[in-house]
Amino acid sequence: AVDAAAAAAPGWAATPPRQRAEILRRCWELMTRDAERLARLISLENGKALKDARGEVAYAAEFFRWFAEEAVRGTGDLGLAPSGANRILVQYQPIGVSLLITPWNFPAAMATRKIAPALAAGCTCILKPATETPLTAYAVARLLAEAGVPAGVVNVLTTSTTGRVVNAMLDDPRVRKLSFTGSTEVGRVLLRKAADRVIHSSMELGGNAPFLVFEDADLDAALDGLMVAKMRNGGEACTAANRIYVHRSIAEDFAARLADRMSALRVGPGADAATDCGPLVNAGAVSKVAELVDDAVARGARVLCGGKRGVGPGHFYLPTVLSGVSDDAAIRREEIFGPVAPLYVFDTEDEAIARANDTEYGLVAYLYTRDLSRGLRLSETLEAGMIALNRGLVSDPAAPFGGVKQSGLGREGAHHGMLEFMEAKYIATDW
Ligand code: NAP
Repeated sequence: AVDAAAAAAPGWAATPPRQRAEILRRCWELMTRDAERLARLISLENGKALKDARGEVAYAAEFFRWFAEEAVRGTGDLGLAPSGANRILVQYQPIGVSLLITPWNFPAAMATRKIAPALAAGCTCILKPATETPLTAYAVARLLAEAGVPAGVVNVLTTSTTGRVVNAMLDDPRVRKLSFTGSTEVGRVLLRKAADRVIHSSMELGGNAPFLVFEDADLDAALDGLMVAKMRNGGEACTAANRIYVHRSIAEDFAARLADRMSALRVGPGADAATDCGPLVNAGAVSKVAELVDDAVARGARVLCGGKRGVGPGHFYLPTVLSGVSDDAAIRREEIFGPVAPLYVFDTEDEAIARANDTEYGLVAYLYTRDLSRGLRLSETLEAGMIALNRGLVSDPAAPFGGVKQSGLGREGAHHGMLEFMEAKYIATDW
């Protein structure tokens, strides 16, 4: 795969940006044409509800349209040195062969969020998808070939000996870039490995998002937003609301209404169009969620709905609301990655912010208040790469997606996403 990517690299880098852009645009068109087929495949492979899979395909395709538009915006800089002696010319060049490693929870979108900017920048790549979801990666690659992406530019490499295969690629001197999305734990391992050859690394890692509801919030809007922030993908999302902090004066009402909404969700096979919440990805994921809930209950949490596995075959866990969760429960520190909404109560703004920031993660934070000045002031103090202010969703190909603290390094989407695959070259020159 590295041989193929390296052989195709000079030709792709030399392909005019307009031509690269038109191929990327065609990728968007073909993904849109085949949206339903891809959504069904994702749902069958990963288990997520078909409506979530349809949303994912639309989101995944948009990265091609966005980066088709960015591919032709290859700007540089020209400046005068402070001494006045020479000019400073800065040009951006493709970084080279890129290794893209993706998780199973958004098997199409996490791949296109990397492939599209890599191609726009003029890089060739190897995609190593998650073991749970190889088929979606192959389906996307086939569409890219149909769209006119030349052989060798995008290579999909599946393996059941992940560590060995990835290490072999990171040891290859032709690989110049690592773009990883997955857990913080694996991200740390890969950063250590990348250090051996000082490989440029972008990391989209885990999250533990707080969701703050202030006493002046529009509660209907907050509930709608929370249902998206919590239940998109059945809770298997890095952006999932994990710690829901509600002001004491509205906490009881909010909890009851949330439990009504969560218990009304239809749990069932992902590919069934009526399903709101599909199964989790595998048996281990269900056990992990069950352990977190049981630990919270043992420490005093009350189960308002759910709190147990689904009946019958399949890896189901019922949509769950927990109130009165203690701060020492494991569920406050660890990513849940399932349909469980733990509620905490706060009294003051300072307390809410301190508790929201009390985590090693910093991907996204949600807050609901009708007071826009308070919302913007608190947005500045929340330690997260992304803030959802009176919104339940932040993902947008046109926006810089990424985290601070141990949630990651670098940004995907926006113009930033393309620069992750480029290096600045400075040319000192005299006219
Ligand atoms: P994961 O276990 O970290 O796996 C992610 C990828 O890394 C998979 O392709 C996996 O391959 C590979 N991998 C695992 N161990 C490796 C090793 N030792 N060396 C090289 N590669 C290795 O994560 P996941 O369970 O698939 O996904 C869930 C995690 O992803 C959550 O923590 C979630 O928050 C995070 N996530 C973050 C974002 C973001 O944008 N920040 C987006 C989505 C998900 P195998 O499948 O073959 O093990």
